Amino acid sequence: MTRSGKRLAAISVDLDPVRCYYEIHGLPAPPPPLGDLVIRRAAPRFEKLFAQRGIVATFFVVGADLSSAACRDAVSELARAGHEIGNHSQQHLYDLQRRDDATLHDEVATAHARISELTGRSPVGFRAPGYGLGPRLLAVLESHGYRYDSSVFPSGPYYAAKLAVMSARALGGEPSGAFVGDPRGLLAPADPYRPRSGAPWRRGQSSVVELPVAVTPSLRLPAIGTLLVTAPQAIRARVLESMRKREFFNLELHGIDLCDAEADGLPTDLVARQPDLRRPLKDKVRTLAATLERLSAEYDFVPLAEVALRFQREGHV
Ligand SMILES: [Zn+2]
Repeated sequence: MTRSGKRLAAISVDLDPVRCYYEIHGLPAPPPPLGDLVIRRAAPRFEKLFAQRGIVATFFVVGADLSSAACRDAVSELARAGHEIGNHSQQHLYDLQRRDDATLHDEVATAHARISELTGRSPVGFRAPGYGLGPRLLAVLESHGYRYDSSVFPSGPYYAAKLAVMSARALGGEPSGAFVGDPRGLLAPADPYRPRSGAPWRRGQSSVVELPVAVTPSLRLPAIGTLLVTAPQAIRARVLESMRKREFFNLELHGIDLCDAEADGLPTDLVARQPDLRRPLKDKVRTLAATLERLSAEYDFVPLAEVALRFQREGHV
């Protein structure tokens, strides 16, 4: 509970570029004009939606995207509006945790420098591509003085669904570029905790606070934005209701959640593989607005950096 007597929540938006979805679906690289589409089109939509409700959020940005002037403008605007800009690595390599130490260091440090230079503020939070936090990546975050990480996503049902889709694709001759992380991460605590150096899915004494992405109690269903925007109303209501048992609701959304296949010109080969893109933007905005409306009555939304600070000071949020 916060001082206002409300529950504590944070909204974060991963601004993954379109090429990430091409990779997940095993498609060849997208046409160049689509490179900066997600940040260019979706970031202002989120900003508007949050501004209407006085929500301050966290946006995780891929460093390489800041080579585009339009992306730089959009991210500067988010920072100016008071949102936190977090580090989502330099290139968004799905198998980042398997890369060598020099690559891990570069992926964190280069995005860190790009974001700091653009916004004038050093990021204090990191989210790994594909929810993959490994022991060596945690060590890199510790050495860079990061306050928090928010990559652990301890959802068995999500992991099983991802594995099933990837296997089906591989059998169909279209291997996915996604990467299945260490299953030990599924046993990680689902509320904020200090990870153990060498085993980040267990409790320990790391200087970096882990803020796991929301899963429901007991079943550990993924309580993420893509599901809340696309699921039938009854499921959405049950997920939101069960999240009331958690001390903190770490609601994760993706930039593409507010992209529109038609208005944004997303190619049909991508739309054919991603059902959420077939829903018109108007519907998705309406659903997300109604969800935020409902949550705002009960929750105080603060950026993840603030949640981590409270945890550091008090040992809980
Ligand atoms: Zn991502």
